[in-house]
Amino acid sequence: MSSEKLVKTKIVATLGPASNNKATIKRLIDTGVDVFRLNFSHGTHEQKTETFKIIREVNEYIGIMCDIQGPKIRVGTIKEPFIMNVNQKIKIYEENIEGNEEQFSIPYDGFLSDINIGDLIFINDGIIRIEIKSKEKDHIIGQVISGGPISSNKGVNIPSGELKQKVPTKKDVEDMKLIAKLDPEFLAISFVGTAADVLNVKKLMQNFGNSEIKLISKIERPIALKNFGQILNVSDGIMVARGDLGVEISPDLVPVKQKEIIKQCNILGKPVITATQMLESMTINPIPTRAEANDVFNAVFDGTDAVMLSGETAMGKFPIQSVSYMDRIANTASEIIPPRDPADFDSEKLQHTQLLGRGILDLSHQLVNLNYQGKILVITRKGFGCRMISKYRPPLPIYAITPFKRTARELNLLWGVMPIHITDENFFNQPVEDIISQAVQYAVDHRHFELNNHVIILLASRKYPDFGNLVGFYYVKEIIEK
Ligand code: PGA
Ligand code: MN
Repeated sequence: MSSEKLVKTKIVATLGPASNNKATIKRLIDTGVDVFRLNFSHGTHEQKTETFKIIREVNEYIGIMCDIQGPKIRVGTIKEPFIMNVNQKIKIYEENIEGNEEQFSIPYDGFLSDINIGDLIFINDGIIRIEIKSKEKDHIIGQVISGGPISSNKGVNIPSGELKQKVPTKKDVEDMKLIAKLDPEFLAISFVGTAADVLNVKKLMQNFGNSEIKLISKIERPIALKNFGQILNVSDGIMVARGDLGVEISPDLVPVKQKEIIKQCNILGKPVITATQMLESMTINPIPTRAEANDVFNAVFDGTDAVMLSGETAMGKFPIQSVSYMDRIANTASEIIPPRDPADFDSEKLQHTQLLGRGILDLSHQLVNLNYQGKILVITRKGFGCRMISKYRPPLPIYAITPFKRTARELNLLWGVMPIHITDENFFNQPVEDIISQAVQYAVDHRHFELNNHVIILLASRKYPDFGNLVGFYYVKEIIEK
């Protein structure tokens, strides 16, 4: 947590061979990463544990998100990579045989029984498309509709199917045992289909002794779009997982869904991450394409809290440059987001604190109009007040002071919020005026606030935690000089 830079749109960066070392992690943080993603689709438990330790060592305030693979279907072993040609017929087995130009396998339990004649199988990000022509006892015969390169372990999507396997898979459960121990802030759940999937993961994590971890549901299948409202209700945050989503639904629908998902998340004040291929060309080039710059920019205008890098930072040639460009583009966009009509972002489910969020938005506009040097300060336990303010995208910076490290780390995912951890266990055990003056003093000492700042303060009451909040308006100079 540094005092020099106020970030607005947050950056999630995936670690991998190109970046999971101490020096690079340090540079990535300095360049603008707020949350690291550890992708459990790759690597061993030892590697993940090691990377986790390095992150905490380098900076104890960065957020960490562990991402479980879910029922991701993959191609089996293929002896030599080859090009699959249009119109060619090919046999596909469920049993893991060694693949060649005539036959290969999709070793997914239930593959043969789940699949139907006429279904389409997409391989390698949808580059290869195969239509199922007939079913035999132990294999199916498909015809290649669109060809391309294939090699071992390439991803497979079968959009028409309702997959029998659900998240968490056996592998996920093993990974979750480790994740419960590591205790990151976030657990991202791949291939969520229903709210029940999320609740199952939650219950299991509780069984493994962790009921604090925040659950991020990855929306990447048509069924998740169908059940989105219920999934959102039981999740702490959402990822628009455009990689798989863009294969499972037609690519022209992805921007539509992205906007809808983000808006629903904003309304509930739950953090949303826009993910995958944002700066894809930067895996091999040091600068992004114009289209990619536009993509990052537009996601911020859509209302995303965070933008994510995957291959760019995990295995690309330019991890640091990717973060640097993303940071510049996202923050340029954040600076000029058009003001929101708050009525568009009210939720029937949120009453009391949401009203204060709106009130603080109005007051912020007044301060800006009057040329006051305004700041918002949320003195918080769990960060709920921050979410209710951030969702209206006020024109003033939002600082969140908390004595709880976990809360400070979690707030790394929320648009416009600068978390500050105050290391004083007794912080909340003092009269309200003292809490406020200590918080402001701390923010001044750490150069977040200056003497000429006017600060709007939100503080939840301890006595009336559900429906009691104090909103204050203070001039820093007066607090400091008293
Ligand atoms: P993944 O998820 O990178 O784990 O596949 C993100 C996506 O599908 O977009
Ligand atoms: Mn995915």
